[in-house]
Amino acid sequence: MIAGGGPAGSAAAIWCARHGLRTVLLETQSFPRDRPGESLHPGVEPLFRQLGVERAEEAAGFPRYRGHWVSWGGPWRFEEFGSDSTGPWLGIQAWRATLDSILLEAARGAGVEVLQPCRALAPMREGKRIVGVSSEAGEIRARFTIDATGSRHWLSRKAGLPTRRASPRLIATYGYCAGDPDVFGEEPVLEGNGTGWVWIAPVRPALCAWTRLRFNHPDRHPPPSLRDMQPTGPTRGADVTWRIVDACAGDGYYVAGDAASVIDPASSHGVLKALMSGILAADLIARVHGGSLPESAAGEAFREWTAGWFRRDTKRLAELYAQIDRTDLRRSGPGGRVRLRP
Ligand SMILES: Cc1cc2nc3c(=O)[nH]c(=O)nc-3n(C[C@H](O)[C@H](O)[C@H](O)COP(=O)(O)OP(=O)(O)OC[C@H]3O[C@@H](n4cnc5c(N)ncnc54)[C@H](O)[C@@H]3O)c2cc1C
Repeated sequence: MIAGGGPAGSAAAIWCARHGLRTVLLETQSFPRDRPGESLHPGVEPLFRQLGVERAEEAAGFPRYRGHWVSWGGPWRFEEFGSDSTGPWLGIQAWRATLDSILLEAARGAGVEVLQPCRALAPMREGKRIVGVSSEAGEIRARFTIDATGSRHWLSRKAGLPTRRASPRLIATYGYCAGDPDVFGEEPVLEGNGTGWVWIAPVRPALCAWTRLRFNHPDRHPPPSLRDMQPTGPTRGADVTWRIVDACAGDGYYVAGDAASVIDPASSHGVLKALMSGILAADLIARVHGGSLPESAAGEAFREWTAGWFRRDTKRLAELYAQIDRTDLRRSGPGGRVRLRP
């Protein structure tokens, strides 16, 4: 039983079904639905192949890009993803509503029973073990439940699994601006200074997505560099406080994707991580089901993998922000100081 049909949930569902497990996925929203997170790390490409969605993804014609421009309180530089003998590694500028529909459709095609729109309401328990969920479609019993509901942490809230915070409260704002994107070229730009950072990505012809993180307080305005463009739709906000559910696997359950851990999107690989953690949870479940792995060992492997990513991500971002702390922030005064430590 999988709650949530974003990248983590759909990837888990495809993988479970492919391993012969009878799989039900609940998604509370009708698709297509909006989601931030369009700039995808090239690492998603082999995962798309493994999930069997590479053709649909190619047909969607998402723009590709070799890297991004960065100014982190200093001169601009271009950061390439890298290359190998087959050529440069390319990121994908995916329209999330389309990508998430492709993935969920692939889950249906793999034999997953998708209930949509249908909300997971509460986990069902027998003693300590989670044995399924009550949902808008009634009770669904399952040997394993995967929470892939994203950053609102459905299972953690309902089952009382603590969420550990590793940063001050951080709210990202984001939106879209239409106009002439020529000024930005084809690659996304990341501009940071003592007060925070702005990410701007040309996601569609004549349409830029922007994400903004101010360390001290959220800023609802589109970045000044987009002032000649027209905002389309409202500015939205998302809680991107660094946090992790340490007990992200336990008796009868796994927590994957953003539901398990969130960091602010400066790292720009939330979707990659969501796909990987969904696949990993499903793979471990299949092995436990097939009798080749004890359930306790599978849970431990998943918790360690999730904690390892979180440790590395938060360390890297804390080092980056500490660098700004030493340079720009001195100039921007005490109000602009950022203190982010893992
Ligand atoms: C402003 C911003 C910008 C970002 N930019 C990037 C980026 O450029 N690149 C990148 O890789 N990542 C980015 N991210 C991160 C990325 O959006 C997430 O990491 C990714 O969407 C996580 O996928 P997921 O499947 O875990 O969760 P989601 O994509 O959030 O999917 C969860 C699904 O669960 C459903 N759901 C929720 N509750 C229930 C319930 N009770 N029952 C049933 N269904 C339920 C929801 O409707 C949703 O469809 C960004 C995040 C933010 C906030």
